[in-house]
Amino acid sequence: MADFLDSDIAKFAVAAVREASILVRRVQAEMVGEAITKGDKSPVTVADFAAQAIVARRLAERFPDAVLVGEESSGALQGEESRATLDQITRFVQSVEPAATAESVCEWIDHGSNDAPATFWTLDPVDGTKGFLRKDQYAVALALVENGKVVLGVLGCPELEDGVRAAKGGAGAVLLAGRGQGTWVQSLAEPNGKWTRLTASKIADPAGARLLRSVEKSHTDADSIGDLATKLGVTADPVPMDSQAKYAVLAAGGGDVILRLLSPSRPDYREMIWDQAAGSIVVEEAGGRVSDLDGKPLDFSHGRTLATNRGVLVTNGPLHEAFLAGLKEIGA
Ligand code: AMP
Ligand code: MG
Repeated sequence: MADFLDSDIAKFAVAAVREASILVRRVQAEMVGEAITKGDKSPVTVADFAAQAIVARRLAERFPDAVLVGEESSGALQGEESRATLDQITRFVQSVEPAATAESVCEWIDHGSNDAPATFWTLDPVDGTKGFLRKDQYAVALALVENGKVVLGVLGCPELEDGVRAAKGGAGAVLLAGRGQGTWVQSLAEPNGKWTRLTASKIADPAGARLLRSVEKSHTDADSIGDLATKLGVTADPVPMDSQAKYAVLAAGGGDVILRLLSPSRPDYREMIWDQAAGSIVVEEAGGRVSDLDGKPLDFSHGRTLATNRGVLVTNGPLHEAFLAGLKEIGA
């Protein structure tokens, strides 16, 4: 395992996610204030683009031939009306890369706006944008995909401590998982700190399962989650949490099941690859299981979406079959 933690690829991915996470946290500290008007998305926009620019830049420096499939492209920043936003993004990027200009920042962002070939990196620069604005959970998520399978994933979670529980204003955590290499956590504040291995819970009785779900009602089906919980005799209420921080918490044994049921308002929604890639390997390498609602493995070989998968079921492993059966019974 020491070889994996010391490998060029793991070190690169962790360093890039750490740098982006700290940058995003700085944007939040400077731009998300009490005075912010509801519906003002500009801090998210600035954080998203700045984080994608720096990760894409670091990837190009380290692995010039690598392809990045990120959520953003610079198209939205072109034109006079976006100039002030682009200047803000550039100012934040300059805090870690002094040579950055508005032009190079756009170039770097677009280095990460590709279609997906067989082998690629995928990035969600700020997953859980609503959580970021509320100063709740959010994550920077980077993963390496080969032939439809995730082989490495890193989650930067500024509002988690040791990957375990929501610790507001704490040091933050970075999680790293490699196929066959386990899932590991390190403090976001200590680049040379100790790596600790994470394992999911072993709970096998659905009655005692701790469920996690999206905060945003439109991202899931809260009523069907209630029906499923009743059917399986689950006693505790589901815990709402934004972003792939849920996957980090489950990998650390702080939760047992994540339900991403299809929202009744968007029954044909298909998951974006960057919303699931890093989180899924973090859970699997901690001993958990990830599938779609029909029990099929997630297939990352269909471009930017999980086109052949419906919703997502994430569990500690022992609970997976019971929840799949329950989903079938309620017709979800
Ligand atoms: P969460 O914080 O778990 O709600 O997940 C946030 C992610 O949900 C965002 O990055 C969006 O890409 C994604 N999302 C947006 N709309 C939907 C939808 N209708 N169903 C499921 N996920 C969605
Ligand atoms: Mg996302």
